[in-house]
Amino acid sequence: MLRRPALSLFLAGLIAFSVAADAGAAATPASDGAEPRRVAIVIDDFGNAMDGTEEMFALPAPITVAVMPFLPTTKRDAEEAHRRGHEVIVHLPMEPMRGKRSWLGPGAITTDLSDREIRNRVAAAIDDVPHARGMNNHMGSKATADPRVMRLVMEVCRERGLYFLDSRTTGKSKAETTAGDVGVPLVANDLFLDEIYTASHVHKQLRKLLRLIDEQSDTIAIGHVGPPGRITASALRGAMDRLQDEAAFVRVSELLPLPEPVPLWR
Ligand SMILES: [Zn+2]
Repeated sequence: MLRRPALSLFLAGLIAFSVAADAGAAATPASDGAEPRRVAIVIDDFGNAMDGTEEMFALPAPITVAVMPFLPTTKRDAEEAHRRGHEVIVHLPMEPMRGKRSWLGPGAITTDLSDREIRNRVAAAIDDVPHARGMNNHMGSKATADPRVMRLVMEVCRERGLYFLDSRTTGKSKAETTAGDVGVPLVANDLFLDEIYTASHVHKQLRKLLRLIDEQSDTIAIGHVGPPGRITASALRGAMDRLQDEAAFVRVSELLPLPEPVPLWR
């Protein structure tokens, strides 16, 4: 009579052991005992029914979808991205050093605006993009280098609980210092995937991305819908197995720095 419970206890133990062994295997990196690597792919310029929109949504891993405010498909793209499990952020149009203002789109942040107007425009942009968890800049080589402008942008992000992703369109960006001052979680782009609209360029950038993943624990790369959209989506799809062998695909919000510990004394 004792044999049956003993056997089931043994089986239960065996199952518990194999579950624990599986969990251990999942937590251990595949190769050479290195730190587990994480990668976030951000795709900019949604909101205007751009080429590659559907192909990006259909990628078999979570991406972060940067949607421009006040455009014909702003709401539709943000809702669809959210529905499919991607992360949504506001892609805020900001003044570049060069280029036409008309490229910026509606509601752009320019350095000639008053403090009040900048705050109003940033808040309106956040209101226009449903499900937004963060924000990054569209263009912005001039506006992101302006500490007054960036402080105002960061203040609204803090009030609304958004993180900021610095696209790094200029080496003079004030995003990092102002985010630190205001208390907004900040991350930064490591690599643009498709500034040149050819498959060979995107493949070259994906090889660079693999090298970055090897060198650092967390990596963020930015691609685009629009002129390179289909090329980039197809290259990402082709590289997905290799990328997923090397790193866990995460949303940008999973890479945010932890809050600074509060000191016990000063
Ligand atoms: Zn953009």
